[in-house]
Amino acid sequence: MFALGRHIIAELYNCDLEKINDVSFVEKGMLEAAEIAGATVINSTFHHFSPFGVSGVIVIQESHFSIHCWPEFGFASVDIYTCGDTVDPWKAYEYLKSKFCASHGSTMELNRGQKNLLTTRNVHSTESEKKPSRKPKEIKSTRNIWFTERNENIALSLKHSGERLYYYKSPYQKIEIYQTEAFGKIMVLDGNIVCAEEDEYVYHEMIAHVPAFAHTNPSKVLVIGGGDGGTVRELVRHEHIEKIDLVEIDEHVIKAAQQFLPELANSLNDKRVHIHINDGVEFVDGCPAESYDIVIIDSDDPKGPGEGLFTEKFYREIYRILKSDGIMITQSESPRFNQQIFKDVFQCYRNIFGENNVHCYLMYLPSFPSGMWSFSFSTKNHGGPFTNPNKDRINKFCSYNNLKYYSYDVHNASFVLPKFVQEMLK
Ligand code: SAM
Repeated sequence: MFALGRHIIAELYNCDLEKINDVSFVEKGMLEAAEIAGATVINSTFHHFSPFGVSGVIVIQESHFSIHCWPEFGFASVDIYTCGDTVDPWKAYEYLKSKFCASHGSTMELNRGQKNLLTTRNVHSTESEKKPSRKPKEIKSTRNIWFTERNENIALSLKHSGERLYYYKSPYQKIEIYQTEAFGKIMVLDGNIVCAEEDEYVYHEMIAHVPAFAHTNPSKVLVIGGGDGGTVRELVRHEHIEKIDLVEIDEHVIKAAQQFLPELANSLNDKRVHIHINDGVEFVDGCPAESYDIVIIDSDDPKGPGEGLFTEKFYREIYRILKSDGIMITQSESPRFNQQIFKDVFQCYRNIFGENNVHCYLMYLPSFPSGMWSFSFSTKNHGGPFTNPNKDRINKFCSYNNLKYYSYDVHNASFVLPKFVQEMLK
C-alpha cells in the first residue's frame, strides 16, 4: 500500500427511517459490516438522541468506522477508515447500503498518510523491545450504548444494555423500554424519559402523598395520564380513598408498564381503581361539577397527546369538577430545564385559582434532565398544603409503607423555594 490508510467517505440516501433511528440496529449493522470487511473490533460506542438521531464509532485494530444518522432526512453519513491490506472497506460500504435500505449512495476514497509524503521517525517503544509473543493477543471488544435525552442546551445520557427491551409506535407516541446501568429500566415516550426504576419513587410519592395528606378527607381522586401506574400505587396506600379514576389516553403505555414495570403497574388492579382509556380533556369535559376531592395531572411534556393538558381551558374545567375544598396537582415541568413553560403554567393557575391558592413544590429526580422538577398545588377554598398534615400520622404512614422520599419534613421543605425559583414565579 502506498498510503497508511484508506478512508471511504460515504453518504447514504433514502434510508429506512426506523432502521437508522434504532441505535441497536445501527450498532449491529456497523459491527457486522466491520466483520464482513475482515476488521477486528476493539470497542464500540453508540449514542441515540431524542427525539431522533444516532451516532456511533467502532474502533478497530485497523483504525475506525463511524456513522451519523439523520432519520428526519433518511440520511446517514459513514466513514470507513482502514489501514493495512487485510480489510476490504468497500465490502463494508456495500453491506451498510443494503442494511439501511439506502436507495443510493455517493462515495469518495481518500488515501490517508501517503508514504511518499512521510518521513520515518525513530520511535522508541517498550512494546517493540519485548519478544514478540507467539499467540496473537485475544481482543475482547467492549461496547457502550448510550441513550441521550436533550433540549437545545441540556442533555442527560444513560448507558444501557444496548438492546431495546420494548418498542411500540402507538397512534399517540413512540414507547420504548431500556435496561440502563445506573437507573434500571426506563420508560421513554417520544424520546423523553418518563420514569426510571431507580428513582421513580421520588416522583410518585411526592405527586400522591402531598395532596392526600393536605386534604382533610380525600375519597374520590382523578388521575389524568399516569399510565405507568406509579401514582396510583401510592394513592391506593391511603385506605380512606374510596375511588380512583385513571384516565390514560394510550393503553399501550399501561401494557408496557404491566410487562416491564410491574412494581409500578400492579396497583392498577386494585378494585378501587377504574381505568378509562380516553383523552383527559374529553373525559373532564364529560364530568359533572364538583365531583372530585383531588385531581392529579400526571402527564409528560406539553407536546403530542399531552398538549391539551397544558391549556387554560383544560385547567378551568379541572376547577369546575373539583369539590369546593378540592386540590389540583400537576406535573409542572422544571425551573431548570424548561423555564418558560414552568412560568407560564403557574401564571395560568393563578389566573384560575387565585394568587394565594397556588403553590409550587420541588423534588430532586436525577433521571429527569437537570434533576430539579416541580409540582403545582392549587386549591379552590382549601387552607393550602400546610393546614391539615399531621406529623405523627404522616410519619407512621411513611414507616408502615416504607416510603423512601416523602415524609412530614419533606412535605413542608419541598414548598420552600430557592430565591431564583421565587423570582421566576413572581
Ligand atoms: N412522570 C412522567 C413525566 O413527568 O414525564 C409522566 C408519566 S405518565 C407515563 C404520562 C402519561 O400521560 C403517558 O402515559 C401519556 O400517554 C399520558 N397522556 C398524555 N396525554 C394525555 C391525554 N391527553 N390524556 C390522557 N393521558 C395522556
